[in-house]
Amino acid sequence: MTPDIRPLIAGNWKMNGTRAELDQIKAMAEGVKTPLSEKVETLLCPPATLLYVATALCDDSPLLIGAQDCHQKVSGAHTGDISAQMIADCFGTHVIVGHSERRGDHAETDHLVRAKAEAAHEAELTAIVCIGETLAERDAYQTLDVLKRQIFNSLPEGATAENTVIAYEPVWAIGTGLTPTNSDIEVAHAFMRAELVARLGGEGAAMRILYGGSVKPGNAGEIMAIENVDGVLVGGASLKADDFLAIYAAC
Ligand code: PGA
Repeated sequence: MTPDIRPLIAGNWKMNGTRAELDQIKAMAEGVKTPLSEKVETLLCPPATLLYVATALCDDSPLLIGAQDCHQKVSGAHTGDISAQMIADCFGTHVIVGHSERRGDHAETDHLVRAKAEAAHEAELTAIVCIGETLAERDAYQTLDVLKRQIFNSLPEGATAENTVIAYEPVWAIGTGLTPTNSDIEVAHAFMRAELVARLGGEGAAMRILYGGSVKPGNAGEIMAIENVDGVLVGGASLKADDFLAIYAAC
């Protein structure tokens, strides 16, 4: 953790969740109503189909609701896409951009990710910009080079600590049960912090850098304790309210 930075615990449901799972969101919304919520921010990114009803369920809860992707344009002929404005219209507050599953499955480039983050800012959403190396890049000792390139090319113009969050997710750690060692996480986060400070000064010093990739109740506390880790982005373990709330409590 970084002193003076309010950590963010964010859940990403990916392409999971139907109306049958709304009771999980309800339980999360209730479960985060504790004094800890003043110190720790919580966010859930369900699929777009549940966005509007999820924000209604969280009306009187500190649990924030966000989306998993947005188009880089405000509106137009883009079948199947949703805009940042549409997310804001559903009372979403955040949007994840550049998740490795989007970069991989939809050939999203660093520059497209930056355009999406800028579209998020236009709609007054906080952009969660995901970066991270593949296993091949890690094996070739290119991790820090990849992070530097992705920060340089994906960070939106006008990024501030308020409107932008960085999520470091090693691609090989997502959904695999594998995580880097704590010291590898520490090195990567210290490197990203230095890059952000070099680029943005005080805003970079105050920007949240989340870790993501196989975070679960059993490892969240120790990962959160690592210097420059200002929260976690959780996939699989955010699907059940009990697990999500256990990660929240582990802070
Ligand atoms: P995981 O996913 O927690 O299931 O590894 C993390 C993510 O993709 O955000």
